[in-house]
Amino acid sequence: MGSSPKTLQAIVDAPGVRGKNVAALWKDGLPAFIQSIISTKHELQEPFYVLDLGVVMALFDQWSRNLPMAQPFYAVKCNPNLALLGVLAALGSSFDCASKAEIKSVLSLGVSPSRIIFANPSKAEPHIKYAATVGVNLTTFDSKEELEKIRKWHPQCALLIRVKAPDDGGARCPLGSKYGALPGEVTPLLQAAQTARLTVTGVSFHIGSGGMQFQAYQKAIAAAKTVFETAARLGMPKMRVLNIGGGFTAPPHFAEVASTVKAALQAYFPNELGLTVIAEPGRFFAESAITQATNIIGKRVRGDLKEYWINDGIYGSLNCILNDHAVVTCMPLVGASSPKFEGARTYDSTVFGPTCDALDTVLKGYPLPQLQMNDWLVFPNMGAYTVATGSNFNGFNTSAILTYLAYSSPKLSEALGGLDCMVSC
Ligand SMILES: *Cc1c(COP(=O)(O)O)cnc(C)c1O
Repeated sequence: MGSSPKTLQAIVDAPGVRGKNVAALWKDGLPAFIQSIISTKHELQEPFYVLDLGVVMALFDQWSRNLPMAQPFYAVKCNPNLALLGVLAALGSSFDCASKAEIKSVLSLGVSPSRIIFANPSKAEPHIKYAATVGVNLTTFDSKEELEKIRKWHPQCALLIRVKAPDDGGARCPLGSKYGALPGEVTPLLQAAQTARLTVTGVSFHIGSGGMQFQAYQKAIAAAKTVFETAARLGMPKMRVLNIGGGFTAPPHFAEVASTVKAALQAYFPNELGLTVIAEPGRFFAESAITQATNIIGKRVRGDLKEYWINDGIYGSLNCILNDHAVVTCMPLVGASSPKFEGARTYDSTVFGPTCDALDTVLKGYPLPQLQMNDWLVFPNMGAYTVATGSNFNGFNTSAILTYLAYSSPKLSEALGGLDCMVSC
């Protein structure tokens, strides 16, 4: 899939995007676009996001090229922005939802319930009932108690047994302490499902989020294979779904991860007829697609130490520093009003968030040129576990932050052929 006019039209017509302005950008046009938003729409100086749908499309293309055998189910929890969900739906993604509200918002985009996995191993009963009502018929479990709830409220639901990945070493956010059956628990769980007349169609795992250790997938796929064999030994119907979860990061490392996964599938599931492989990437599609602009609302100088207050912080989008262990970077916006940063001296600077809590400190000892009140600081890679996990503390409402849509492409002029619905800048 390239940036053909046809695909581009599909993006602009995607649910969640249709009817909204999408700014067409040249490859390096993002700062100019941010500048234009500031000068035309942002007298109020609130922080805002730019979602680059061209990046989402390029990542989807990367995924399809490198892991064509693994159908992506985008993990909605990572960033539930409706335009992002809609574009992913238009590109052919399915969805991983963890709650009634997430299922609702995916269905509201016109996505079929057959493209949703309810991938929360421990679900509240009303949410299970809701899934049954709307026809979401695939979920995960890792306890007998969960099986009992599903038997009661959604016995037609197909199940994947979530197993603990043998190795989540290196993941920034390991999940193994909370989810996944241990090797010794697999047989009794499968037997309990048999007794309850529930259908276990496969295996699911998650190696942890933000990981860099490719071998974790290989070990988890090997562990999944032994579960397939256990099921066969217990005389259960042949398992046919392997869910390799999330944990993927965007290029440059993706191709390497993908070949590790492919090699492991070859090694442990060779010639497996009728095997469906699915994955639940969250960070992969969201992280690099969103850039955030924040305004400097306060400043204090203590000799060489420059301190700034911006209007989003640790209780807002930048909670990713605490909750997602993210290492964020930022740069001052260079625009018509501030061409002065080129080659300028930098100072070790502190950047604070807006709330009245000292914990709300975004960066310390960070090299920045001398900035002035109302300058803008721009944070790239702000799409994953940012807006989704921000709060309303002190009245700074993360979910009220506006998102502007852009579409960047190196081959924009070709891609634009025949389109008249875009705003250029
Ligand atoms: C959080 C989560 C994901 C997404 O993880 P990423 O590391 O963002 O790809 C996928 N599946 C499940 C079950 C999750 O809990």
